[in-house]
Amino acid sequence: MHILGAGLSGLSAAVVLAKSGREVHVHEIRKDSGARFDGDFQGLENWTSRSDFFDEMREWGLDPDEFKSDPFSIVDLAHPDDVITNPITDGVAFRVVERGTGHHCIDQGFKRMAEAAGVKIHYGVKKAPEECHIIAAGPKDSSAIAFGEVFHTDHPNHVTFQLNDKLAPGAYSYLIIIDGIGLICTCLWRKQKKSGRYLNETIAWYEERYNLNRKPIKRVGGKGDFSIPEKYVHEGRYYVGEAGGLQDFMWGFGMRYAITSGALAGMAILGECDYEEEVKDRLLPLIKVSATNRFLMNRIGDRGFKMVANHWMRDQKRKGDGLEFMRWVYRPGIFRRMIWPLARMGMLRKKSMGDGRRVMRMPFRGALRRDSWEPSARAIEIGEQWKAIQRGGGGVSFSDTDT
Ligand SMILES: Cc1cc2nc3c(=O)[nH]c(=O)nc-3n(C[C@H](O)[C@H](O)[C@H](O)COP(=O)(O)OP(=O)(O)OC[C@H]3O[C@@H](n4cnc5c(N)ncnc54)[C@H](O)[C@@H]3O)c2cc1C
Repeated sequence: MHILGAGLSGLSAAVVLAKSGREVHVHEIRKDSGARFDGDFQGLENWTSRSDFFDEMREWGLDPDEFKSDPFSIVDLAHPDDVITNPITDGVAFRVVERGTGHHCIDQGFKRMAEAAGVKIHYGVKKAPEECHIIAAGPKDSSAIAFGEVFHTDHPNHVTFQLNDKLAPGAYSYLIIIDGIGLICTCLWRKQKKSGRYLNETIAWYEERYNLNRKPIKRVGGKGDFSIPEKYVHEGRYYVGEAGGLQDFMWGFGMRYAITSGALAGMAILGECDYEEEVKDRLLPLIKVSATNRFLMNRIGDRGFKMVANHWMRDQKRKGDGLEFMRWVYRPGIFRRMIWPLARMGMLRKKSMGDGRRVMRMPFRGALRRDSWEPSARAIEIGEQWKAIQRGGGGVSFSDTDT
């Protein structure tokens, strides 16, 4: 059994298959699992089903204790007018994990699980997709990008989620602090010429409100690829994770889709389920809702974001649980099902892929006139500070040209 890509989706499939006695080879173009990232924090969501995702992982034979994770039940929600409120839940809303090649990173946890199950991972190699049974090579094109700075801080562990169309065009920014390391990231869902400008301004915003004592280390980022293919199994090959377009169109929370689709593909090859059916029943409805939400969000600016934030807080007051709103956001209901054909027509474009698959892709949207503004004095200083750190060896693992 040959798998292309030793990321989350490919290694999930590999573990499931190898644990059932299959000989599994994973071919990875980079030097290690997680090398696509550089120590950035990501949130593993726990709201697209009632069951805890870690319990689901255990059912598939994947051990969540193999990597470090920090559960969160409360966040700061920064509204576009800078008001900060607190969505809160009793259970686990999401878990912060680190992406990269460090021992505690999720990617390395999956690598250890795979190797312990007997999987042979071949790093730094090129393998033709036609020779593989599972395609797990991650995103190919860009529908959106995220750009962030990792820094030392003495602020306690914390997460802020900010809805702000100026700092994060069409999307959101976030601050994550875990054990003395912080990440401020802005997501750009409209293509901009200089993403550094948005990051500098976003950092200035957070610095003004939190006592960060920020000492920059490096800048990180990456792209997201959002598409809906006609089929998830093509010419006998299983497309999993972002290689199969399995991504959250609304916020880009793709890790859970990657792990789930990898595990499902493994089980399908073992004859335990039908991959096409499982993806279309379990994951596609969620993806369509997220795409419909994205379509609606593309139509609103900060006024709409403010309404969403207020609605979230009212919903929490009524139901006594902030996570219920997130569950509702991803629940396929009648209203959004009715809008879906409009969203598909208005937002997605047909594309024929090199391997013969036909997909409906979400292209990277163009910038709007309101995306052009003068940076603040503090943002300019932060940009200069970063240039000095770069001269001293501070790395950027991602640039505008990667898109
Ligand atoms: C900056 C950023 C922030 C994000 N934040 C979040 C978040 O907070 N929460 C969340 O859930 N998701 C987040 N995501 C999305 C998440 O990272 C992805 O959806 C997820 O990693 C997809 O898993 P995958 O297995 O499809 O791809 P990956 O985990 O990227 O694995 C793909 C692997 O394939 C390899 N590969 C690529 N091409 C080839 C080839 N030709 N041959 C062999 N190997 C190849 C790559 O090197 C890589 O190792 C974020 C993404 C970015 C870029």
